[in-house]
Amino acid sequence: MDCLFCKITAKEIPSQTVYEDEKVVAFLDINPVSRGHLLVVPKVHSENIAVANDVDVVALSLAVKKLAPVVCAAVGADGWNLIVNNGNAAGQAIDHTHWHIVPRKKDDGLKHWPHVTYAAGEGDAIAEEIKSGLNG
Ligand code: AMP
Ligand code: ZN
Repeated sequence: MDCLFCKITAKEIPSQTVYEDEKVVAFLDINPVSRGHLLVVPKVHSENIAVANDVDVVALSLAVKKLAPVVCAAVGADGWNLIVNNGNAAGQAIDHTHWHIVPRKKDDGLKHWPHVTYAAGEGDAIAEEIKSGLNG
């Protein structure tokens, strides 16, 4: 399998790695949204969080919790976004599970998601669909 992030976690290609434990590696994004933008990646290959093993999902969460405040302090950020693009339609370019930590500063010019409203009854129908999917 020709996977860029497998090669980075295996140290076959260089990265600016800032953290590593038994399960995950964190390194600087090569084209950051903001200074200090990190990618947190499990060492075991999976395509996305929905199919990753539970142990790796927990390890990712704990690594993000540890890293985010330290990254923010390092670059003088006031906050941070945790961004996870799952699937091509959502902007996932690399098919190895990865979570972005994007440091944010007040008035940094980055825009939040646009919001829409539901038509009458639409939210109820979608909620029902999700609940039946969970129970199915
Ligand atoms: P995504 O669009 O969620 O799949 O994010 C992939 C991210 O990987 C992008 O933000 C890229 O800038 C980043 N990226 C691609 N190649 C490298 C690399 N060699 N080292 C570090 N980050 C990379
Ligand atoms: Zn991989």
